Amino acid sequence: MAKLLIFATAAHALQLPNVLKRGKGAAPALEKMRFLNNEEARTVAQDFGTPTYVYDAATLKARAEEALAFPNAYGLTVRYAMKACPNGAVLKLFESMGLNFDASSTHEVRRAMRAGVPASKCSLSTQQLDDDAITLMKEHSLEINCCSLSQLDTIGSALPGAKVGVRFNPGLGSGGTAKTNVGGPSSSFGIWHEQFDEVVALAKKHQLEVVRVHTHIGSGSDAEVWKRVSSMSLDLCERLGDSVKTLNLGGGYKVGRMAYESSTNLQEVGKPVTDNFRDYKERTGVELKLEVEPGTYLVANAGALVTKVQDVACTSGKDKGNDFLKLDAGMTDVLRPSLYGSQHPLVVVPSDSKKDSDDSTHEYVVVGHCCESGDLLTPAPDEPETLAPRLLKSCERGDLLVVESVG
Ligand SMILES: *Cc1c(COP(=O)(O)O)cnc(C)c1O
Repeated sequence: MAKLLIFATAAHALQLPNVLKRGKGAAPALEKMRFLNNEEARTVAQDFGTPTYVYDAATLKARAEEALAFPNAYGLTVRYAMKACPNGAVLKLFESMGLNFDASSTHEVRRAMRAGVPASKCSLSTQQLDDDAITLMKEHSLEINCCSLSQLDTIGSALPGAKVGVRFNPGLGSGGTAKTNVGGPSSSFGIWHEQFDEVVALAKKHQLEVVRVHTHIGSGSDAEVWKRVSSMSLDLCERLGDSVKTLNLGGGYKVGRMAYESSTNLQEVGKPVTDNFRDYKERTGVELKLEVEPGTYLVANAGALVTKVQDVACTSGKDKGNDFLKLDAGMTDVLRPSLYGSQHPLVVVPSDSKKDSDDSTHEYVVVGHCCESGDLLTPAPDEPETLAPRLLKSCERGDLLVVESVG
């Protein structure tokens, strides 16, 4: 298990604007570290061992500020979707800035409470409802978004008359890959919008007050999708009536990790949403509050994993093969490449500072430490099973390799 270190010096604030401003373009020959330098990476390895996650407090703060400035018409709650990184120090930092939290299990709620976050600042949207949810609602004012008809029935039976949120699948999905698409007919999350009447019947049966509608479809970075999903969700609010005070549009904002990828512009996607909320007020007289739930967006580029190259292997010779770098970390710590074929910047840091100025480069396939051929840090984009050698600084056993944007 990798250790975690929160890194905080003022100088790192200077790195921030680049994170967002990078747009499409050719990938640079060699990737760069976002907030560490070679000396600092070596110090981390020396003082804490490898692998160690390092988080940059300045980047965390800047992303949280950006989320808190999300355009809105009648009030905003930003919930950090804590499954992105449930570390206590990260939760405390975000709480101190006024963020609330989205938990995907009661274990996460308990974890937040242990970090000092009251459960009343958490809302639970879970695939697996357990008895502790009832206890947390009753004794600690946990909010809940019922994510299925059976959850609505269970909560209603245990706590008749309670105030609840309902998570709908509005029939529209978005998201970079099939595995990150969390709306539409191929997604199991939320109550299918055509089961609306059953929601109303269950709420009536248990006198539940539906105060919040939730739709998390992995909204991505396309303002047009935000416009559509917010108007579909507002239709659901309108049909439920004026008990609904809040619309939660979930998270899933695209984050650019590689230099050629871009991140969601929150001001841009928030604008059509605000217009829709104003129209809703015109139509219904209700001033709906907006909730957003970014997870990955707040932490991805704030985290780096400092690893060590613990072995090298070569399969090239007469046949065209590969030069492999084997890390002391892998899919146990950074799963996205193996799961989605996603790309992370990789930076070699020589163990000996004298080699920092050596410009020689080489193409390597970078693999993790599991006896599992899918444990790959350099897959082809969106093809987790295809090896894609990466140009890196020439490297030998004992050098460090920093996997960037793993927060
Ligand atoms: C995972 C999740 C989010 C956040 O998704 P990210 O891709 O990390 O932004 C928000 N809301 C709910 C209900 C989630 O399950």
